[in-house]
Amino acid sequence: MNVLILGSGQLARMMALAGVPLGIEVRAVDVSNLKVVNPIDKQVLNIHLETAIEAADAISAEFEHIPEALLEQVNRSGKLMPSIEAIAAGADRVKEKALLDKLNIANCPYVIVDNVAQLDQAVETLGEKLIIKSSRDGYDGYGQWRLSSKDQLPEIKQALAELDLKKVPLVVEKMLNFEREVSLVGVRGKNGQLAFYPLVENLHHQGQLHTCVAPAPAITPALAAQATEIFSALANELNYIGVLAVEFFQMGDTLLVNEIAPRVHNSGHWSIQGADTCQFENHLRAICELPLGSTQVLAPSVMLNVIGCDLPSKEMLSVPRTHLHGYMKTPRAKRKMGHINITGNDYAELGEAMQKLQKWLPESYFPTLNSEAERLLQIK
Ligand code: ATP
Ligand code: MG
Repeated sequence: MNVLILGSGQLARMMALAGVPLGIEVRAVDVSNLKVVNPIDKQVLNIHLETAIEAADAISAEFEHIPEALLEQVNRSGKLMPSIEAIAAGADRVKEKALLDKLNIANCPYVIVDNVAQLDQAVETLGEKLIIKSSRDGYDGYGQWRLSSKDQLPEIKQALAELDLKKVPLVVEKMLNFEREVSLVGVRGKNGQLAFYPLVENLHHQGQLHTCVAPAPAITPALAAQATEIFSALANELNYIGVLAVEFFQMGDTLLVNEIAPRVHNSGHWSIQGADTCQFENHLRAICELPLGSTQVLAPSVMLNVIGCDLPSKEMLSVPRTHLHGYMKTPRAKRKMGHINITGNDYAELGEAMQKLQKWLPESYFPTLNSEAERLLQIK
């Protein structure tokens, strides 16, 4: 079988790696130049985009910010999964909010702004602690501005003045004081079958995911049910095929949706070691119409992102049950370079392993490691 992925970064690479044992060949499109590449080593393949589209049994995307012309070209093949509407809902926060509201799914209070003067009204409606998000092309905290007091309004308005807000409006959200961030990664097959990984807990630093704990500690059955109900409503509405991720803020007993990602997700990387079938294999299985794989957890896991620095020395592998996944990229500030998966018998064992890893993981690049290790050590 042959799968074509739009986007040629680490998510395409990990899908390609997962496809090898199944004999699924994954090619990728570098969306910056429309060249077809091998996503594992990024070698340009001697195949035209049109030929690759023709040859593919299924086509999918590793990120939602795909140039529209390309997305429409691929859509015409009838092989795109998930659908163009699902990808658009992940790419455009205005569409995403409309979808959530249509399905009565709780999300952050917000207003849509297409003129900087409307920010005063936004402060009246939502309060002065706001997070202002560009409705398109945002990821990893890019395209966001934070307002912590009304006094900063003139400064923020100036920063936003250059943007064409009529074309790309802002979604202005109330800054929530949530207890924690959790996410649900699941998969829906062509026949509507659903499978869920457990809720995981995500720790962000400066708008970027640093640490993911799977399963999230202290999840009540009611909370888990809320998450799967929301996921199912979204996936069924979109007639979704493939892996979908839903990011939540937990406020007491309630989950509010932060955003959805119509693709494999960073908060599912732990599943390579920690689950029976990893998210990458399950995405391929879904879009290739194969039976979905079990999402059962094999061991509590932690995933640590390696961001902005070279990969740590492989000496770190001397810590039992640690696995390094490098993406073969050149370091740049805030760039995701790889991740480390750790498995253990319980959370305390994960905390111990994280403490041992500190020797190879400098605090400047792993600012949450120490506190997360201590927190996990306390969980019975
Ligand atoms: P990513 O690509 O990492 O998912 P993103 O750029 O798509 O990020 P969001 O997920 O919307 O952007 O926001 C990034 C992070 O900023 C969130 O995970 C959360 O920590 C914080 N954040 C976003 N919205 C709010 C909010 N309304 N209140 C408080 N914190 C928020
Ligand atoms: Mg997010």
